[in-house]
Amino acid sequence: MSLRIPRIPGVDFLAAGKQLSYLEIEHSDNAHDAAVIPSPIAVLSGGTGPTVLLIAGTHGDEYEGQILLQELIRSIDPDELTGRLIVLPALNIAAVREGRRVASVDGVNLNRALPGNAGGGPAEQIASIVAEDLIPLADFVMDIHSGGIASEYVPSAFVYPGPTQELWAEKTAAVAAFNVPYSVVVKPMLKSGSISGAADRAGVPMISTELGGRGTVSLWILDRARKGLRSLLGHWGLLTGGPSPERSAVRWVELTSRSPVNSTMAGLFEPTVELGQCVTAGDIVARVHSVEELDRPPKEFFAPIDGVVAIVRHPAPVNVGTTLVNIAVDHGTNHPEGNYVTS
Ligand SMILES: [Zn+2]
Repeated sequence: MSLRIPRIPGVDFLAAGKQLSYLEIEHSDNAHDAAVIPSPIAVLSGGTGPTVLLIAGTHGDEYEGQILLQELIRSIDPDELTGRLIVLPALNIAAVREGRRVASVDGVNLNRALPGNAGGGPAEQIASIVAEDLIPLADFVMDIHSGGIASEYVPSAFVYPGPTQELWAEKTAAVAAFNVPYSVVVKPMLKSGSISGAADRAGVPMISTELGGRGTVSLWILDRARKGLRSLLGHWGLLTGGPSPERSAVRWVELTSRSPVNSTMAGLFEPTVELGQCVTAGDIVARVHSVEELDRPPKEFFAPIDGVVAIVRHPAPVNVGTTLVNIAVDHGTNHPEGNYVTS
């Protein structure tokens, strides 16, 4: 193997079996006097087949992935694997401990911080390890997100289109194997510094997810994603048994620059549509109520395009500029193609 082998204490990436250790993120302040914030990592190896990198906890208030990956680490016997599984279930550990999107130690959004900086703050160090050490080792990557405290998504795989015909084909096949009800496509320029962008640049097939949200966990989404994760690992050739034969059609939707409906008033948000509902341009999708102006009627907000309600804001208090809902273009069961692939 010509790749640089990451130096992570307690992990021999070439050894067989199950190894549990920590990334040692250097940081010292009043709350972290040990000078290191440990982010858990598991490496399970059963053969010379593909390497799959699985990540959750990139944002600390997104819980489905954290639970699924902890479960996976405990339940998989390395002998079941044809290759190597690298699992980071609580990647931005300082944010995970706080149950917040970003950690108060640095306030950095880890999913905008790649390729990071080995000499920087906690999120920049983690970003550097992911971009420089772990993605180059991987044949496939998955980063499991959900809507967090601030929003709820239709339960979905989440992918950037392209960047090449080959990578796009790998991603759409992975989405089909993961088999949650939706797949959301978004243009990569919206996500500078993301793990998905780094995988695209490295030429490694990757899918992300948005599994619900609202700062909690949905039983049925968790169950669907648990089955989907096993099926995906089978599809990628890491777990014997192959992908699940029980698949239903995935509905493809696309977030564009016209998708967000932003509030132009501070107050209390009332959604007038349900997640997953089809709407027509001009339909009322939200109202915002004034808290203090008793004679002021609520302000109404309208769908900018025909489509599917793909994201709904969760906490009711909003400000000017808060995104209330996102309306995604509906592609039905056919994944978008052609003009998405840039070469
Ligand atoms: Zn997230």
